[in-house]
Amino acid sequence: MVMHYYVDIRPHHKHQVHREGCTIIPSIQYLQYLGMFETSDKAVAMARVVYEHATGCKKCAKPHTAKKTT
Ligand SMILES: [Zn+2]
Repeated sequence: MVMHYYVDIRPHHKHQVHREGCTIIPSIQYLQYLGMFETSDKAVAMARVVYEHATGCKKCAKPHTAKKTT
């Protein structure tokens, strides 16, 4: 499933990659749009072009096969 992905650009935060609709995604002014990707891994790879230490958000950037436990 293709989703829109964003990276947190705040300087003193981890550069977490969020998926559209994430419940803990920061305000839009703190986000940079990455593009549409099939997996969060691809989105994180794109974010790492700019932010070397970018990581996937624990809340939303799980593999799509993972089941929701909440
Ligand atoms: Zn998230």
